[in-house]
Amino acid sequence: MESATQICFAVEMTLGKLAKWLRILGFDTRYSSNFSGKRLIDKGKGCVLLTRTQRIRDMKTAQKRIFITSNNPFDQLREVVQSLGLTMKDIRPFSRCIRCNMRIRTVEKITVRGRVPDHIWETHDIFHMCTHCRRIYWPGSHTRRSRERINRLFQ
Ligand SMILES: [Zn+2]
Repeated sequence: MESATQICFAVEMTLGKLAKWLRILGFDTRYSSNFSGKRLIDKGKGCVLLTRTQRIRDMKTAQKRIFITSNNPFDQLREVVQSLGLTMKDIRPFSRCIRCNMRIRTVEKITVRGRVPDHIWETHDIFHMCTHCRRIYWPGSHTRRSRERINRLFQ
């Protein structure tokens, strides 16, 4: 099994929520709202293709791909996890920007003052920032919910 840092995914345009979840888990996830057919294959070189298109599933190339059958994003994620035999050790939750796929870094609390709501700044000490889009993340309720779902995923 490759480590999480080596796996990358290229996700078909219709699977946006799945792409978001893969980024939450920390995987390098290439996704765009125009990823279909040949573009998906080109942009996904060296990555695992996640597709719902039978033509891509049946392609005769060596490129690794997973044909997603579920309509529910969380079940789709389960399909990926089971298909690759991923475990908790393979994931780095909340290490990547959900919006642009870049790694996020811990930043000094003072640097985000005025850039997050006041009550968030006053009640949190740990903040992360995307090195690309500068979006700020903090361990809030959304993270707690996400953690619970991640735990269920690997049960
Ligand atoms: Zn970003």
